[in-house]
Amino acid sequence: MNKIAHYLQDHVLGEVMDSADARQYFSTDNSILNITPSVILYPSNENDVRKTARFSWQLAERGRVIPITARGSGTDQTGAAIGSGIIIVFPAHMNRIVEFDGKNGDAVIEPGINYGKLQQTLHTHNRFLPPFPASLEYSTVGGAIANNSAGEKSIKYGDTRRYVKALRVVLANGEVIETGPLSKRELNKKLGLTTFEGEVYRSLDVLLEENTALINDIGPRVTRNTSGYDLAGIKSKKGFDLTPLFVGSQGTLGIITEAMLQTEIHNTGSTLVVGFFDDLQNVQDAVLSLNELSDLPSAIEMVDAQLLSLVDRLNPNLLKNVITKPYPNYVLFVEFDNANDRVQKRLARRARKIFEKYAASHQVESEEEKKAELWKIRQASSVVLTYVEGGSRSIPLIEDGIVPLDKLNEYIAGLYQLFERNHLQIALWGHIGEGNIHVQPFMNLAQVGDRQRIFKLMDEYYTMVINLGGSTSAGHNDGRLRSPYLEKLYGKDTIDLFAKVKKIFDPHNILNPGVKTPSSTNNLKDILRKEYSNDLYTQLPRS
Ligand SMILES: Cc1cc2nc3c(=O)[nH]c(=O)nc-3n(C[C@H](O)[C@H](O)[C@H](O)COP(=O)(O)OP(=O)(O)OC[C@H]3O[C@@H](n4cnc5c(N)ncnc54)[C@H](O)[C@@H]3O)c2cc1C
Repeated sequence: MNKIAHYLQDHVLGEVMDSADARQYFSTDNSILNITPSVILYPSNENDVRKTARFSWQLAERGRVIPITARGSGTDQTGAAIGSGIIIVFPAHMNRIVEFDGKNGDAVIEPGINYGKLQQTLHTHNRFLPPFPASLEYSTVGGAIANNSAGEKSIKYGDTRRYVKALRVVLANGEVIETGPLSKRELNKKLGLTTFEGEVYRSLDVLLEENTALINDIGPRVTRNTSGYDLAGIKSKKGFDLTPLFVGSQGTLGIITEAMLQTEIHNTGSTLVVGFFDDLQNVQDAVLSLNELSDLPSAIEMVDAQLLSLVDRLNPNLLKNVITKPYPNYVLFVEFDNANDRVQKRLARRARKIFEKYAASHQVESEEEKKAELWKIRQASSVVLTYVEGGSRSIPLIEDGIVPLDKLNEYIAGLYQLFERNHLQIALWGHIGEGNIHVQPFMNLAQVGDRQRIFKLMDEYYTMVINLGGSTSAGHNDGRLRSPYLEKLYGKDTIDLFAKVKKIFDPHNILNPGVKTPSSTNNLKDILRKEYSNDLYTQLPRS
């Protein structure tokens, strides 16, 4: 065992590993990047995390930095769940539901709990956690919090940040703090602490005060955005709260060891309205009108004809009796889940009217089996995600951009042009109701040509998204992959502000360094994988 592993194992209750096998396993997440760690730790409890952070902090004080990367299930698409130092793997032990309050639906959980497992448990109480990512069956709630994940229900219910009421967090120096809204008096108490926590509150309070105008002006103005740090959320009517800042910070400001989550009542009955469109401008107009309904739909999803044709070529029977050829250019899925049946039907009628105006044809279903059949069209995105032909595979590279809704048609047209210019096959799907479209090019990372093309494609794509007033990530976050575009997205002043926030929480740059800090795409070239596969076949990858 190496010295660090040896030392840690002597001090923690959980298990430490440094075998070549384990290090290789944790050298990748679901991104196209790889970094081999030195040590893997399966913490048994918060104390193990605390001791590990303390150890790393003390070494850093003596000039040796051993980074710490927290990790859930490693489905991150941005290279944020890998690192060169200690990987703290939560699902093995810290995976419990600690408390569930049947009256208000609040749940206290440990970060390593599988999201799907939590969701199933909540369902038995007629509750659910709405911003679930499509990867819920094989990812953790801790990962969703750290990424501020979102999904198909986010149009109505919002992203993960909305559901996190309080956190327990291990700070860079090993101190444990509890977050939650603080009154003026409570904040003053924190400001008076002589601990690192006190230092964090004092420095942050001053920084926020000095930069109020800049913070209020931080863009981009999109329906959701998980890029950067949520500075605007810290001070609100509820008080001063670090919770929104830790949510979405990808383990770069602290390590989450417990979370209190708010949940929603789960209504299983829904109405689905599906529209078949030929014209892109009509798609945009329909999406804008649907967004003006008195109650938002619980989903507005989309697939395009290119996706349907690809599915038809690769697995012709999958949608044989579900959708007929010639395929429409775009299929939109609009779902209403209102508990009040009359309201649900009324909204569905309104959606139908919108589709009568803009769509070539449409279909309304509330019977479970018929709805499930129609949803198969949207879920056929799994065929794209598992695409392998020759050495080419579907690569998560530019998969999560989001633009303002009135730029949707420009964005989609731009995507088709981008792929055509780069001689790549395209297929589009995603959360069109929020302006968030998924797209993954098919490339072969073993080929030098494709490895070079990746950077050109990223530059062209992210420039387009930013120029349209969008964000580089709606739910999958920045990680290492998109950090090179942070400055372009936010501008120098905001980036400097983010750097100051990082310095307050992590002065020695121990916590997931390289993630959410401006860098150059040149830095990615050395850590680009030469092969890529996603190992999610057991659960069938969807997005
Ligand atoms: C096929 C597919 C579909 C996907 N669909 C979606 C989607 O619909 N929406 C979406 O938002 N994302 C999606 N993702 C991305 C990813 O699955 C989600 O962000 C997921 O929530 C990450 O969970 P995880 O347990 O795998 O986290 P990991 O990948 O292990 O980690 C993610 C980040 O969280 C940090 N982290 C983990 N635990 C902690 C902790 N305890 N404290 C501090 N930081 C921590 C890590 O350091 C890392 O930065 C998808 C990914 C795949 C492969």
